[in-house]
Amino acid sequence: MPRPISATIHLSSLEKNLSIAAEVAHESKVWAVVKANTYGHGISRVYPALANADGVAVIDLNEAEHLRALGWRKPILLLEGFFDDSDIPVLDALNLTTVIHCPDQLRMLEVGARSGQLKPGSVDVVLKMNTGMNRLGFTPDAYRSARARLRAVSAVRSITHATHFADADDDKGVKNPLLVFIRAIGDLHGPVSAANSAGILWHSETHREWVRAGIMLYGGSPSGDWKDVSCFGLQPAMTLQSKIIAVQKVKPGQSVGYGSTYTATHAQRIGIVACGYADGYPRMASSHANHYAPVCVGGYATRTVGRVSMDMLTVDLTDCYGAEIGSPVELWGKNVPIDDVAAAAGTIGYELMCALASRVTVNVEN
Ligand SMILES: *Cc1c(COP(=O)(O)O)cnc(C)c1O
Repeated sequence: MPRPISATIHLSSLEKNLSIAAEVAHESKVWAVVKANTYGHGISRVYPALANADGVAVIDLNEAEHLRALGWRKPILLLEGFFDDSDIPVLDALNLTTVIHCPDQLRMLEVGARSGQLKPGSVDVVLKMNTGMNRLGFTPDAYRSARARLRAVSAVRSITHATHFADADDDKGVKNPLLVFIRAIGDLHGPVSAANSAGILWHSETHREWVRAGIMLYGGSPSGDWKDVSCFGLQPAMTLQSKIIAVQKVKPGQSVGYGSTYTATHAQRIGIVACGYADGYPRMASSHANHYAPVCVGGYATRTVGRVSMDMLTVDLTDCYGAEIGSPVELWGKNVPIDDVAAAAGTIGYELMCALASRVTVNVEN
């Protein structure tokens, strides 16, 4: 028998979340963002649930290759474009849509087209503007001339205007960058793509022709607080579960785990769970005194106590009626929002999903 920890991917939840994105942004087409191995869910596993997306968005050419090999015929967007001259022929071969975010990429595309590596009218481009995030994109001042150069490249079939917001998920919002974006586009033609999940859920003015749905597809909250998204009916696409493998009865004054960071104040039953940071569970969620994360044991909500170690963590069984060796434990999923576990560790659900360790067995269900 393998260790009792496993993850389950819920395809119907993913399908449902995708339909929610399409419904909320009902006038837009949806890029399903499947970068980082589909936020840790696994592209091959999740693939059947993506059928209704209008396109998929990735970071890496390998991911694009994988998707074409799986049979994906609709558009594939390279969210950061390509990284090297040698990638240019692949754009044509795999029929990819590429972001162009800097003069260097623009030059590579021009050279590739001139040297015949790209057929005329073969490449769709998403031209990225930096509206304040200051990671990728042409400044609003440089944007028009970049677009003019792109239009002169025979290989370019279409140009979509795009930007990415730094604060769509918090109080600062999108007002200023959206204004900068719209002003710089001015009377230029072409479709627009600006919204990530936060834009889709909370800023309908950003929807336009294409939205880019990431975290919401997986049932996580862009803000890190699941209560912010609960009204939309998103469902977690991943459950991480394990079992109790030992039970300790501790007396008042006795402590639990490395560093003895938790000391019992009353006679208490402690469950030892087969899940640790080597499985992708965040050690910081329960790293020092008064730090703990929610967990569900045999249907009862409880919490971690003491430090998370490599292969185990420890939970309070006081209020978990009937809990014993073999009792099922949900680390995150339908009963334990991944956002809450992440918050306990000072991070966001995105990071936990992406960090699911390869040693965890993953099952797929509908
Ligand atoms: C990852 C990414 C997204 C998706 O963001 P979510 O917050 O997960 O919805 C959208 N656009 C770009 C450019 C991205 O890199």
